Amino acid sequence: MRVLKFGGSSVAGPEAISATLEIVSRSETPVFVVVSALGGVTDLLLEATFHAADQREEWRESLEEIETRYLNTVRGLLPVAEHAPVLSKVKKELNTLETLLEGAYLIGESTPKLRDKIVSFGELLSAFIIAKFYKSKGLNAVFQDSRELILTDDTFGNARVNQEKTETKIKAVLRGTDPVVVLPGFIASNGEGDTTTLGRGGSDYSAALIAGALRADLLEIWTDVSGMFTANPRLVKGARPIPTLSYEEAMELSHFGAKVLYPPTIRPAFQAGIPILIKNTFSPDEPGTLIESDGNPHGRTVRGISYVPGIALLSLEGPGMIGIPGISNRFFKVLSQKGINIVFITQASSEHSICVGINENQASIAAREVNRAFDREIEKGEIYPVKEEKDLSIVALVGDRMKEHQGLSGRMFSTLGRNNVNIRAIAQGASERNISAVIRSVDVKKALNTLHETFFEEQVKQLNLFVMGVGNVGARLLNQIRDQQKFLKKEHRLLIRVVGISNSRKMVYRQSGIPLARWKSELEEGTAASPQAFYDVVRNANLRNSVFIDNTASAEISGWYSKYLQESVAVVTCNKIACSSVYSGYLKLKALSRTYGVPFLFETNVGAGLPVIDTLKNLILSGDRVRKIQAVLSGSLNFIFNTYDGSEPFANVVREAQLQGFTEPDPRIDLSGVDVMRKILILARESGLELELQDIENHSFLPEGAGDSADIDAFYNTLERGEPHFKTLLSAAKKKGARLKYVAELNNGKASVGLEEIPEGHDFYNLRGSDNIVLFYTDRYPEQPLMIKGAGAGAEVTASGLFADIIRTGNY
Ligand code: ADP
Ligand code: ASP
Ligand code: MG
Repeated sequence: MRVLKFGGSSVAGPEAISATLEIVSRSETPVFVVVSALGGVTDLLLEATFHAADQREEWRESLEEIETRYLNTVRGLLPVAEHAPVLSKVKKELNTLETLLEGAYLIGESTPKLRDKIVSFGELLSAFIIAKFYKSKGLNAVFQDSRELILTDDTFGNARVNQEKTETKIKAVLRGTDPVVVLPGFIASNGEGDTTTLGRGGSDYSAALIAGALRADLLEIWTDVSGMFTANPRLVKGARPIPTLSYEEAMELSHFGAKVLYPPTIRPAFQAGIPILIKNTFSPDEPGTLIESDGNPHGRTVRGISYVPGIALLSLEGPGMIGIPGISNRFFKVLSQKGINIVFITQASSEHSICVGINENQASIAAREVNRAFDREIEKGEIYPVKEEKDLSIVALVGDRMKEHQGLSGRMFSTLGRNNVNIRAIAQGASERNISAVIRSVDVKKALNTLHETFFEEQVKQLNLFVMGVGNVGARLLNQIRDQQKFLKKEHRLLIRVVGISNSRKMVYRQSGIPLARWKSELEEGTAASPQAFYDVVRNANLRNSVFIDNTASAEISGWYSKYLQESVAVVTCNKIACSSVYSGYLKLKALSRTYGVPFLFETNVGAGLPVIDTLKNLILSGDRVRKIQAVLSGSLNFIFNTYDGSEPFANVVREAQLQGFTEPDPRIDLSGVDVMRKILILARESGLELELQDIENHSFLPEGAGDSADIDAFYNTLERGEPHFKTLLSAAKKKGARLKYVAELNNGKASVGLEEIPEGHDFYNLRGSDNIVLFYTDRYPEQPLMIKGAGAGAEVTASGLFADIIRTGNY
């Protein structure tokens, strides 16, 4: 024998109800079918009641909608020949409903008792119609009013069931009935003829009571999802059905908000040892979730993640709290007298405070009553007026076996912390089957998703990228990501999504990821951009593992890094300005990165894609000490001096370098040596030295006046006029069999940059094209330096260096 329950969306209209027929027909008999009101109708009934009680005419619109829904359902399900008697009964019931609402409207009031009477029509009508429909399709089906079976107290709206009487009634009435019995869920009676209801979502409970009393073999809950999921599937994309659960685990998950099962449902089934199977009406072949005593055969720890929205924290504090006895007693008494349900008591941070979590909609009354109860102490300043904090939610990890494992809460809280989810309180669960935290409601989605990733999808980590700047480097970076996305997901379980892109004019944001095949058109169709607007987008998106990537050379943009880091957004940049401006600024960014636990990475600041900074970091971390650094760090200058052989004027060679993307957007930054100064400064700082840009000696090779040129054109003019000067430099080197290289050096804490004649045989002599080379002389590499060499300029390699940093953020 089985009990099947179909929820609101499973009986929303003719099509859905037809699907239930298939399921019921396949079931073994006898079968008891408990149904909800047509989906959404309970809300409409309550809405109509409130409007009527408010003496607002809108109640008629809600009623009309309800009427249309039911009449259309009859017409859609039954053959025309059978319409008349059914429609006439339904219309009669709808008339009674109208009379009740009219009554509430005229008096301008609705009592809980009247509300229960009114909402009962939702379930009564659907059960009646569905029974008729099954019968018309050849099933031997009858309707049975469950108010005759389920007996409760007088708590209208959320009545308490008298289990004993109910069980006796169910057994007496339902034993030996027809093979298919259709019953309305949710409704009951107080034994004196008044209709009561079992609380929102209560049809599940009705079905469980019937299953328990009849010792059914199985209780099937048919709904619109394929089982109880590891997290609410509407909020967490990666959530998946849990094949089996223990009763306790299911209870805990539903208590903490997994709406798919109404919490009281589990007890009657558990007591009678009846398994509960949650199935999808619209996908009946999927296995669903089976809840039974042995529901956790593999001893898994965390089974699911739930949340309860609408929580407020109430805390009472004050200097007089220690001295005065009985404060907490009085505090709890006031709350209980006013019928305020304490959802949890939190760990007090000090002796002089009490803090409880309650339902948000009771917060104001609770605060008022507590303040009233303590008015004398408040007046004397011994206690402060109660503090009320709203817009909070509880998130909870659930699992029977969690108590046997250490470190789960650590993992939970560090996951939340890393993603800047502020934990307002830790809720003491009554059982040891959950670990719960109170967080801001705006953070719920992010929290559920990151926790889900940590505990259920460990393999796949999602990075959410916000890309600023799509010039030479940025555009290539986007292309590289596009080409690599699939591979990283498949082979490295790294899901890289570009969710925001901005240039100086336009910006675009898409939470689900911008399709990289057409990022250009998406950006063009975007909204007006500014650094502030982009920052607001990143902040409001509030996504986990967010990374801000700066592909610009803009000082303004680098000024925003600290703000991003403070939002726990990682910063990856090829822009050198932040790390080479004042030392205190550099230190501050490093400190913020540590404080907020997010990476600040700038590998591409030196040697483009070459692993220079990372290598240096590892040397220092492993206890080595830098003695000297010698390097050719300007891909642009190297290209220029390698190409310049006197046949073409120097100025043209520079133009060519600029054209090929080997120089900064402003070539003066390279030619003046400033770019190399910045790089050696960053290496010096990463080696542990406190140095400023002005501390670096710069032996300029430019002709007179070039340093002061007002703009790029004027600068090229001075280069053209200075051609004889460059010829002289070149021939002097040639005479000695040497080559010109622009060298940076750090030695004994002092840094310098300048053009040098490099003799044959030197490590630098054979550098080609735009190559860079860095020699680290350290305690461990005193004579033979550690050497890094390779292409050190160009958009493609810079982009790949950024990409490597982005991937590093994923391993942070
Ligand atoms: P019914 O009308 O069939 O009773 P409900 O709307 O009461 O259905 O419950 C099903 C809904 O519960 C799902 O559509 C889903 O949005 C929500 N839900 C919340 N948490 C979970 C979870 N952990 N697993 C499955 N569904 C969940
Ligand atoms: N129809 C009722 C509700 O919407 C009961 C249920 O569907 O379980 O709350
Ligand atoms: Mg439900």
